Amino acid sequence: MPTLPTPTPHDFDVLIVGSGLAGLSAALHLAPTHRVAVLTKRALSDGSSGWAQGGIAAVLAEGDSFEAHVDDTLVAGAGLSDPAATRFVVEHAPESIAWLQALGVPFSQEDGELHLTREGGHSARRIVHVTDATGAAVQKTLIEQVRRTPGITLFEHHTLVDLITASKMAGKSAHAADGPDRCLGLYALNEATDEVVTFSAPHTILATGGAGKVYLYTTNPDTATGDGIAAAWRAGCRVANMEFIQFHPTCLYHPHAKSFLITEAVRGEGGRLLLPESAGGTRFMPLHDSRAELAPRDVVARAIDFEMKKHGLDCVHLDISHQPLAFILAHFPNIHARCLELGIDIARQPIPVVPAAHYTCGGVLTDLDGRTDVAGLYAIGETACTGLHGANRLASNSLVECMVFARSASHDILATPMPQPPEVPAWDDSRVTDADELVVISHNWDELRRFMWDYVGIVRTNKRLDRAARRIALLQGEIQDFYAHFHVTRDLLELRNLVQVAELIVRSAQARHESRGLHFSRDYPEMAATAAPTLLIPPAA
Ligand SMILES: Cc1cc2nc3c(=O)[nH]c(=O)nc-3n(C[C@H](O)[C@H](O)[C@H](O)COP(=O)(O)OP(=O)(O)OC[C@H]3O[C@@H](n4cnc5c(N)ncnc54)[C@H](O)[C@@H]3O)c2cc1C
Repeated sequence: MPTLPTPTPHDFDVLIVGSGLAGLSAALHLAPTHRVAVLTKRALSDGSSGWAQGGIAAVLAEGDSFEAHVDDTLVAGAGLSDPAATRFVVEHAPESIAWLQALGVPFSQEDGELHLTREGGHSARRIVHVTDATGAAVQKTLIEQVRRTPGITLFEHHTLVDLITASKMAGKSAHAADGPDRCLGLYALNEATDEVVTFSAPHTILATGGAGKVYLYTTNPDTATGDGIAAAWRAGCRVANMEFIQFHPTCLYHPHAKSFLITEAVRGEGGRLLLPESAGGTRFMPLHDSRAELAPRDVVARAIDFEMKKHGLDCVHLDISHQPLAFILAHFPNIHARCLELGIDIARQPIPVVPAAHYTCGGVLTDLDGRTDVAGLYAIGETACTGLHGANRLASNSLVECMVFARSASHDILATPMPQPPEVPAWDDSRVTDADELVVISHNWDELRRFMWDYVGIVRTNKRLDRAARRIALLQGEIQDFYAHFHVTRDLLELRNLVQVAELIVRSAQARHESRGLHFSRDYPEMAATAAPTLLIPPAA
């Protein structure tokens, strides 16, 4: 554990963990006046932001209004979206789009105006996009900008290990009576040297994305292991609404296809969901909802989950083969090409699909400036729970949330007088390497993701949640032992965080005695008359 204070090798004004849309936006806002470090655990481009296809929601069309965007968001949030946070995001969304345009993002245009699409749940056309690869275009522009901005130092392949707080340095717990604890910096594993490096700064921003990897099937990239949520929790921050995990109904199921989304437009264009031949080959959505395949995504995801569990299936089928090849090529060229690479001709055969964890609605509790319970520590983007998404996220509201809170957190930091640089202890590297470690880590990782899928997935019951909680407790003991005694690796750090996040999801789900938004419990199928967020308070750190 930490040794005596030593001079720190890396001293900055602001540390930003994560290089997605949230992290890079904050870096660009802060760099003109502050010395900023951006740490990211893989390459700069890795993360969910680059994978976003649809676009970014903002009120820009004539006839649309802030009220309408706020209302649509509150309806999706099923009574749990915070009206003030929602209005804050909606009102700042247009200036975020203008900011991206000024940086050079080539948004799709029509007749010299931004082209706006419409998505499920939105009452107007308000989604700006760059064809069907919005996130990649935005990330490319931001990466070019941060690379040429002098005030930003980039640390790729650096994985956050833990935050350094004043109370941990003093070797005591953070008690409310002492006032808020303060974040002084962090430890990060440098993969190039295999060393844990110390960073110090008066301000730290967590922008580490979501936690989709806690589930066996996910649309998220490998980076989405909930690291920021787990680290903030360990540092003493409250987390909220972790039971609300959004599942996308149709992700390609194939051993060589990881996280490939089959857009909901396939169902919109007449695609039918079928049981595989082994289970009868019949269409099942009409049995679940009168809107059949056109029911909202959480209804479709639940129906698929039900059929898979009932018949013991690995996947179901989505069939668009009744449409002519020319139609398929015109509407779904990428899906057609990707499936063909894997030997599936979607013009002649159905697509094997499974639902997959897509978005983490909950996270580290923050205010409108991205501030957490620990002074000097901010959380922005998918890592945070700002109150916008409530019990269900409205499509295309997440990228805009990243930008709005990157800006407000940066403004808060810019308005704060710069304190003395904190002195922080170096990492104690007396731990040893254990050859047994790798197999245990990969086994535990697989086990966790499988039982989270089976027991804490789309449909929950008290019994399944209890089962998951027992297994999580066992894994936590084992992983804590590894963490305390052995040399840390990225896999170990990620597993430690995933198990922590899994515990937070299960505890939140157990605390909610109703079904609301994305949380569905067979034991409590009705929605309660009143709505309250699920707040988890960490034990004294
Ligand atoms: C397939 C897909 C499609 C989507 N489509 C849309 C869409 O059309 N519109 C929309 O609004 N939203 C969409 N979303 C959601 C949206 O992309 C994400 O919510 C958003 O990009 C999150 O941005 P972020 O900056 O918070 O996190 P990310 O972009 O995920 O970035 C997180 C960063 O943190 C780094 N990191 C994580 N842990 C550590 C650690 N321990 N140490 C150092 N670095 C770390 C990662 O490497 C990464 O750089 C989509 C998501 C997916 C997966």
